[in-house]
Amino acid sequence: MYYKALGKTGKEVSAVSFGAMRFREDDYKKGPGRCADIVLRARELGVNYFDTAPGYCNDQSEIIVGHAINQMKDKPYVSTKCGLWNADTADGAYGMVQQSLKRLNVDKITVYNMWCIKSLDEYREMTKPGGIYEGIARAKEEGLIEHICCSTHIDGNGLAQIVSEGLVECVTLGYNALNFAYRRTGVKACYEAGLGVVLMNPLGGGMIPRHSDRFDFIKNTPDESIVQAALRFLIGQKEVSAALPGPGTIEELEECVSAANLKYEVTEAMLTQMAGKLQNELNTLCTSCAYCDECPVDIPIPRLLDSYNEFILKGSYEAIAGRLKGHWGITAEKAADCIKCGRCETLCTQKLPIIERLGEIAAHLV
Ligand code: SF4
Ligand code: SF4
Repeated sequence: MYYKALGKTGKEVSAVSFGAMRFREDDYKKGPGRCADIVLRARELGVNYFDTAPGYCNDQSEIIVGHAINQMKDKPYVSTKCGLWNADTADGAYGMVQQSLKRLNVDKITVYNMWCIKSLDEYREMTKPGGIYEGIARAKEEGLIEHICCSTHIDGNGLAQIVSEGLVECVTLGYNALNFAYRRTGVKACYEAGLGVVLMNPLGGGMIPRHSDRFDFIKNTPDESIVQAALRFLIGQKEVSAALPGPGTIEELEECVSAANLKYEVTEAMLTQMAGKLQNELNTLCTSCAYCDECPVDIPIPRLLDSYNEFILKGSYEAIAGRLKGHWGITAEKAADCIKCGRCETLCTQKLPIIERLGEIAAHLV
């Protein structure tokens, strides 16, 4: 394992760190032990940064990570969060910090995130007087938090604005081989301002391993796996402090961690060359992140857009119908209910033309 600077925080974090959001329900419903073993194995392998949140894995993730931390001699860095849906006041956020400290079995939280900022309006809401930033800052003054961070899917310009206001020391961002070409501006803005850059969703919500043949261009050697290649592609960029894959088993963990056995630099010239190889259609795949899932007429957008990926990859509308029926167990009918309010497109982390795709699904399949 090799380590990289977390911006100007003075901390070095494992290049492959741990996103505690994909533990398996069959494991954690029997108690925290089995999933905590994955966390303990990660620590053994040199992982020193664990990212969790209240709500992940049916609200069990922080408890699992805390259960593992309780058994560690050498305490790791830990990152957790609160967002507008679980705290909308300073006191609410301060209460969330207290809850996380207890669940995680730690005296202080290394990195605390204002969670999932989707627009500058949301950022303003969080940082207004009496808002959640104030509660987090109070916890920091009292030594309960070391560094304030934000997790966000905002576009490059929005991110540059947040960075310029100087309230956060690191950012947690969705960045991967699917979207690097248009997210890179934001990543560079963070790095140039001296912020730590931690990457969530490094495997594109599983899209990259599922379509490994289309992502061959990120492989450096023919024998590395697509998971290793996708992680090396990210942690090899100088702007990136760490990637946060979310392993659900010890085998998955070991494959992810092995990406940090081999160190190489991904240069600007390589990125430009790779952006050229990223066929246009791959840059427009839905990653099933579900951030758009707030439709006023209850259209299951993430499932419909995930199924539309099949059209992009296979070129047939039947493939969409097959995915909807076989994987999601639904029909295309709801696609026709769209009232074109535009809310989903504002929220979409990939900035996809959702209304147009729903129209296409409705025209061909309803
Ligand atoms: S544009 Fe259509 S799909 Fe998107 S939120 Fe509005 S009604 Fe729902
Ligand atoms: S449409 Fe956009 S926001 Fe919705 S699941 Fe797909 S990538 Fe995520």
